[in-house]
Amino acid sequence: MDLADLTTLRLGGPARAVIDATTESQLIDAVRVADEAGDPLLLVAGGSNLVVADEGFDGTVVRILTRGIEVDSDACSGAMVTIAAGELWDGVVARAVTEGWVGIEALSGIPGSAGATPIQNVGAYGQEVSQTIASVRTYDRYDRAIRTFAAADCGFTYRSSRFKAEPQRYVVLSVTFQLTLGDLGAPIAYAELARALGVEVGERAPAADVREAVLALRRGKGMVLDADDHDTWSAGSFFTNPMLSADVADALPSAAPRFDQPDGTIKTSAAWLIDHAGFAKGYGTDHVSLSTKHALALTNRGGATTAELLALAREIREGVQASYGITLVNEPVLIGCEL
Ligand SMILES: Cc1cc2nc3c(=O)[nH]c(=O)nc-3n(C[C@H](O)[C@H](O)[C@H](O)COP(=O)(O)OP(=O)(O)OC[C@H]3O[C@@H](n4cnc5c(N)ncnc54)[C@H](O)[C@@H]3O)c2cc1C
Repeated sequence: MDLADLTTLRLGGPARAVIDATTESQLIDAVRVADEAGDPLLLVAGGSNLVVADEGFDGTVVRILTRGIEVDSDACSGAMVTIAAGELWDGVVARAVTEGWVGIEALSGIPGSAGATPIQNVGAYGQEVSQTIASVRTYDRYDRAIRTFAAADCGFTYRSSRFKAEPQRYVVLSVTFQLTLGDLGAPIAYAELARALGVEVGERAPAADVREAVLALRRGKGMVLDADDHDTWSAGSFFTNPMLSADVADALPSAAPRFDQPDGTIKTSAAWLIDHAGFAKGYGTDHVSLSTKHALALTNRGGATTAELLALAREIREGVQASYGITLVNEPVLIGCEL
């Protein structure tokens, strides 16, 4: 099977072997067998954050297809919701909104699995999963043991975690979220979303309205998967937003977005840098281009190769570097290839 069939970019050559793991024990067994044989292993769930080489993957691909949601809900502690790694993330968010579990509604429409969300501390529209994750249950491939991490021990930072920092070590088996109960979503923390809802930042709106508003905003940017829309044949944002020191941020043009971070760094917008370095939406070739709806998504227009995608990514990275002295860093995980 080609990895192109398993990734939202629809890129990537063949895997030597593919194993479907539909139960937790199948998942652990498949990983253990590959590790004991010294066989390279690639875990794939939704394939929405992966860029795989045209040469493919010379090892075992284990597809994470586990399912199950357990709920422990009471009026005092809210809902403790434990989700198997392979559950579709957006299905979880939809259910949360229906059930009145609050705190993940702004993360509507993000493709992929629940188990991948802690890996890069998935975030959007003012929410990150680190705000609501209570614990992450893993299989530790080094110690060959089950290990559960409380949120404080997950090393969550912007688009990263201990799981991302040690990519060969942890298999996420399930994630437990602690969500408050109610019909109103969490206070809105993102200006564009607040505007869409007609509220001020910091105010609340019905969680169902937040979900609909986020989905509408995301669709407008090609950030909800749609097989008929090549703007969504992507891995989402291709570059992370740079965190800058005050000196570097001061050197940017005054119009560049700047967001103060709790650690004293200043976040700017990778999309703004790309656009203002001369790469407008749609920039590229017949095969690969920036999305026509969002300057931060690199897309497969059909018939693309990973080599072409990476060539475009390099051109953009170098253009931004030449214009602003900032080196963009890729967000998706690169397999068998590099920028
Ligand atoms: C259109 C689009 C929009 C997106 N929007 C956002 C967004 O708003 N915010 C955001 O943060 N991200 C976004 N993304 C990126 C992506 O959806 C998330 O990173 C998502 O969590 C990836 O989940 P997945 O199941 O597809 O992971 P995969 O792509 O299958 O895997 C990603 C990485 O995680 C590893 N992995 C997957 N599951 C496990 C597991 N259970 N245990 C250990 N390792 C595992 C894989 O080996 C790989 O290294 C977007 C992507 C697309 C295509």
